[in-house]
Amino acid sequence: MLAPAAVTTDQRYAIPESMQAWVLGDPGQLMLKRKPVPVPNKAEVLIRIDAVAICATDLDNIYYGPPALIEGGLPFNKNWTPGHEYMGTVVALGPGVDEFAIGQRVACEIHAGCGQCKRCRQGMYTSCHNYGMNYGAHDKGHRANGFTTDGGFCEYQVNHINTLARIADDMPDEVGALVVTAGTAMYALTELGGLVAGESVAVIGLGPIGLLVAAVAKALGASPVIAADIADNRLEIARKLGADHVVNVRNIDAVEAVHKLNGGEGVDYAVECSAAPDAVNTAVHMVNRGGKVCLAAFLHEKVAVDIAHVVKNNIYLYGIRGEGKSSTHRAEALMRQKRFDAGLIHTHTFALEDLPTAISYAKNHTDNAIKVVVKARGVARIGVAAE
Ligand SMILES: [Zn+2]
Ligand SMILES: [Zn+2]
Repeated sequence: MLAPAAVTTDQRYAIPESMQAWVLGDPGQLMLKRKPVPVPNKAEVLIRIDAVAICATDLDNIYYGPPALIEGGLPFNKNWTPGHEYMGTVVALGPGVDEFAIGQRVACEIHAGCGQCKRCRQGMYTSCHNYGMNYGAHDKGHRANGFTTDGGFCEYQVNHINTLARIADDMPDEVGALVVTAGTAMYALTELGGLVAGESVAVIGLGPIGLLVAAVAKALGASPVIAADIADNRLEIARKLGADHVVNVRNIDAVEAVHKLNGGEGVDYAVECSAAPDAVNTAVHMVNRGGKVCLAAFLHEKVAVDIAHVVKNNIYLYGIRGEGKSSTHRAEALMRQKRFDAGLIHTHTFALEDLPTAISYAKNHTDNAIKVVVKARGVARIGVAAE
C-alpha cells in the first residue's frame, strides 16, 4: 500500500502493495486480477476483508447491471469489483481518524451517502439523492461499496468511518458479515415501519433478508411473527430464529393461512421478501386496515397492484433500500446479546479464489444454500487438499 505520512499503520498488520481482486467484465463474467491496495483518505480506514457474503443483489449487479451504477452507467468492463456484504479488521487509519483502532473487527455498511443532500441529513443515507455521483465533475463524495464504488470481492477495501459497526469479539467472521443484513431488517421494521412490541408481523419469502426480518421482529417483541415460504428447510430455520408460526404456502392460500394464524384478522405488518410477481397483492391482503406493507425484494418486471384495496383500507406501502439511520449498530446489539443466531442462515464458505463456484451455489440454491460466504484466508480451495 502506498502509505502517505498521514496514514497510520501498525507492524502487526503488514499491508501489501497489491491484492487479489475479482473484477466484472461482460455480464456474468468475473475475472481474478491484481489491483493496488486502496489508500484511506480523511475519515476513512483500510479494512482487511475477513469474510464477504453473497447477496441476491450481487447477482443483479453481476448479471444485469443495476442497481450498480459506475461512472453514471452500467458496471460492465470498468475494472469494477463487486461484493457488498463484508466484515473485516481495521488495518490502517486515514488522516485524522481516531474513532477506530487498528485491529478492531467491524461490520461494514454499504452506503456512506454524500452527507450533504436532504436524505443524508435525515440519516437516510441509503436513499442519498446523489447516488452514484462520485466521479469527475459529478463528484459529490457518494460511496456505496459494491454498487457505485469498488466492493468486497477482494482482500482490502477503504470504508468511511460512518459505515463501520464494531462487532463482539466472540462473533465469528461469517456471522459478522450478516450484521448488515440484520440491519436492513431492523431498518424495515423500526425506523421506516415504526414497529412497537406486540404488533403482528408476517414475512413472505425466507431468503436471508426474510429470515432475519422474522428474527429481528421477534427480538423486538412483535407478536405473533408468521413466516411464509415454499421450502420446508427455510421454514425450519425461521422457527429456530423465533417465528411463532411457519406456514408452507406451496399449496394453500397464504392470505387465508395468515389470517387464521392471527386469530382471524390481518396482521399489522407484511414484509414482502420473495420477489414473486403477485406477492405485493398477497401482502396487501394480509394486513389489517391501517396496516403496513414493506417491499424489500427487487422485482424485474412491473406488476399490477390492487390499489382500490390499499386506498379503501388505509394501507401504507413502502419500499426499503439498505440499512439507514445506523440500524446496523442496533442489529449488532441484538446479535451481541444473542437474541437470535444469525449464523443459522450461513450455510457455505468458499475460498475467495472460488468465488464463481460460491456464486453458483447462491444463485442455484445448490445443497440448500442460503447465505454463502467467501474468505481470502483460512479456507482451502476446492479440489486442493486441506493442509
Ligand atoms: Zn445485500
Ligand atoms: Zn446524500
